[in-house]
Amino acid sequence: MKVKFWGTRGSLPTPGKETVRYGGNTPCVEVRLHKNNLVVFDAGTGIRGLGDELMATGESIKAFLAISHPHWDHIHGFPFFKPLYISGNEFTIIGAQTRNLRLRQMISDQMNKVYFPIQLNELKAKIRFHPVREETIPIFEATLSSIYVNHPAFALGYRLNVGGKSLVYISDNEPFDREVARSVKNVDKNIVEKYLAVKGDPNQRIFDFARGADILIHDTTYTPEEYVNHVGWGHSHYLFSLKIADEAGVKRLVLFHHEQSHNDDKVDEILSKCLGEIRNRNYRFECLAAAEGMELEW
Ligand SMILES: [Zn+2]
Repeated sequence: MKVKFWGTRGSLPTPGKETVRYGGNTPCVEVRLHKNNLVVFDAGTGIRGLGDELMATGESIKAFLAISHPHWDHIHGFPFFKPLYISGNEFTIIGAQTRNLRLRQMISDQMNKVYFPIQLNELKAKIRFHPVREETIPIFEATLSSIYVNHPAFALGYRLNVGGKSLVYISDNEPFDREVARSVKNVDKNIVEKYLAVKGDPNQRIFDFARGADILIHDTTYTPEEYVNHVGWGHSHYLFSLKIADEAGVKRLVLFHHEQSHNDDKVDEILSKCLGEIRNRNYRFECLAAAEGMELEW
């Protein structure tokens, strides 16, 4: 498996000289399976660069696009993904939906002519929608599992397994706390029920989902100090990312969804604090911070 990061920033694109090293585009991660089959996680603004690279090959594309959730930063780049405008290309879009808001509608609503000049039904590629809940589906030679994470409204984390290798992508997720869940009430109540039903630490759901992964890409928006003022906003601080990686026994943790106000030096500082914690606590995994253009292979 190969992974390439096209967008690593959370919430809002942050172009400028202060963010050139880690990047200013919002979430988009390209995964290549053994036969070069393409799976993309999220359609943040980073997907535009991926689209341009794919167009340059001139080949027709058959790919899966797994959307974590329809907050702006995860779908904002979709209408700018040029392969969608080419007939002969085929995309299957995977994501969660609710009874009142279907997956197709979430994508088409942002392209409503009030917001965008081109409509979903004008795109030339063949686009299928495959709504999922917590389940495992086959895609190419791999399987893709999904889990509801703790994020306002609803959001999914994903796990790709292929030939004994695995990658977990959890772009937006907050430590689940029973007291906060009872008072904040901004997460779909069926999802909250799933967490409340866990005996012991409700975050065990996430630890189990990420168990033994070769790579865990996880929301690391805040420092613990910043998190105190953002409880209920749906994001993690780095100590929680480290805890998941340790509890799940993953091999590599990739810090992701960098806070929009953090410049490159701040991300460096967070990474170096993580490496310090890993040494102090004798954790056994590698840790790196996602950067636009970074590629990993394993
Ligand atoms: Zn996000």
